[in-house]
Amino acid sequence: MMENISLFLKALHFAADKHRGQRRKDESASPYINHPIYVAQILSDIAGIDDVEVLCGAILHDTVEDTETSLNDIELAFGLRVARIVEEVTDDKSLAKGARKQAQIDHATHISREGALVKVADKIANIRDVASNPPSDWSTKRRKEYLDWAEEVVTNCKPESPELLSYFEDSLGSARKGIDS
Ligand code: NDP
Ligand code: ZN
Repeated sequence: MMENISLFLKALHFAADKHRGQRRKDESASPYINHPIYVAQILSDIAGIDDVEVLCGAILHDTVEDTETSLNDIELAFGLRVARIVEEVTDDKSLAKGARKQAQIDHATHISREGALVKVADKIANIRDVASNPPSDWSTKRRKEYLDWAEEVVTNCKPESPELLSYFEDSLGSARKGIDS
């Protein structure tokens, strides 16, 4: 138990350090670290996940994609299983933006159980942000396109948690309603 808390706190410290100075795209430019914390919180509260390596994967999920962190750094500090989860949810930045979006849809069909949980929780966090704290320069059309794309990714992920899927669907429905009203 203490070991799990210790690993989780280590992940929080690591991610907060790596994302220091980064901000989300919402109007008030929230600290970036709030987003991975929210993703882990969704997994714990909604899906009942208590697997500390999955929760660490959630905390670390954007470090390799968005900061100077390698998968090797993650493996050294948190082990191979956490590194694999992060790897599965990291975009290939050598692809153009449109191809990256398509790659997420395609990769979701063969994502692992753990990767699917983190991926779907990440999409939930982002669609809830698109509904309540959207990037300040996004048009209604762009917000709707984001929701449609997130739905395609999640449909292919097939997460094992019915609670998570149902929370995704509720969040998506509310986001669509909010944008249309
Ligand atoms: P995205 O459109 O993918 O930006 C969304 C990502 O930003 C999220 O997945 C999330 O990623 C992160 N993010 C940070 N803050 C927020 C927030 N407040 N709310 C929601 N998400 C947030 O990336 P780009 O800006 O790089 O644009 C790329 C794509 O957008 C291309 O496919 C392009 O074609 C399309 N595009 C569409 C336009 C339109 O008008 N329809 C205009 C311009 C581009 P994470 O979880 O990793 O933090
Ligand atoms: Zn994310």
